Amino acid sequence: MQHPSELARCNLCEWRCGVNRLEGERGVCRAGMHPLIAYTMLSETLSSYSVTMLGCNFRCIYCNAYRISQYPDAQWFYRDYVEPSVLADETISRMKPDTDKIGFTGGEPTIHLPYIEEVVRAIREKGTEIGVGIATNGFCTPETLTRVIDLATSISFEIKAYDDDVHRMLTGAPSAPVLRNAKVLATTARESIRVFRTVVIPGITDRQVLKIAAFIADVDPTIPYRLIGFRPNFILYYHPGPSMALMNDLTEQCKDIGLTDVAWSGYYPTEMPGGSETEIAAQYLRRAGCHKYPRSCGECELKDQCPACLLEPWR
Ligand code: SF4
Ligand code: SF4
Repeated sequence: MQHPSELARCNLCEWRCGVNRLEGERGVCRAGMHPLIAYTMLSETLSSYSVTMLGCNFRCIYCNAYRISQYPDAQWFYRDYVEPSVLADETISRMKPDTDKIGFTGGEPTIHLPYIEEVVRAIREKGTEIGVGIATNGFCTPETLTRVIDLATSISFEIKAYDDDVHRMLTGAPSAPVLRNAKVLATTARESIRVFRTVVIPGITDRQVLKIAAFIADVDPTIPYRLIGFRPNFILYYHPGPSMALMNDLTEQCKDIGLTDVAWSGYYPTEMPGGSETEIAAQYLRRAGCHKYPRSCGECELKDQCPACLLEPWR
């Protein structure tokens, strides 16, 4: 299958590398001609068939998916290239009645936009109406952003920092294109914005959050803004995460600035529950739905439907 010739001189994002991805030349993202898929899954939270794509045009020092975003450096092996028509068939066959979209995340999915457009076209040509979700770092060119807006029905847009120097140290890239795109998105496709979001990293982005909130409020104070608590990861592996008090405080300050829809998820615990060794473990298990004490999973009547098996604590 031939990808659009635009990959012969790739200018999909603001790095504007101009490399020939069809011939194996690599730009900042190191993506080739064939986008590689890490994995796919049905996301009940997002009512979405979710496609996680390898590679990114940023090098965020806190990336919680760095083995995906920094592919191929991480040397883990993933699913591989999947023909658009094959992924379209797979999506249609796995959709549940409440699945209303196919979602693309990563890494940074917009570095693979021609492929994403093909997949969505193939799904629609097969007679299935479907929405499209995209989670992006916002670093695409204006031309790519126009295509993203035309395609996507639900966009999660991350603004990692407001100040250019902070953004560059965090991600390796300037903030101006991201802020420009955020403004265009907010003013021309407000209905497609699922959330704007920022990861709260104590000492690095907590003050940035307030500048970003003021920036968003100036454009449209009704845009949902989500604060995500940083957890030690990657190059910031030994940096502490935010307390619950800090997340609450920042949320209130964002509201004071004028935003009407602000919420946070995830914080870094500073205290441990009390009790014996087994009681401390039991307290976490009870929160997850397992009330057995002591535990013996092999004999448990819930072993095939264990409520503590697949816990997503940030939900
Ligand atoms: S997507 Fe961006 S980083 Fe990747 S090759 Fe194209 S212009 Fe360069
Ligand atoms: S933009 Fe996202 S996926 Fe890419 S390196 Fe940064 S946090 Fe990771």
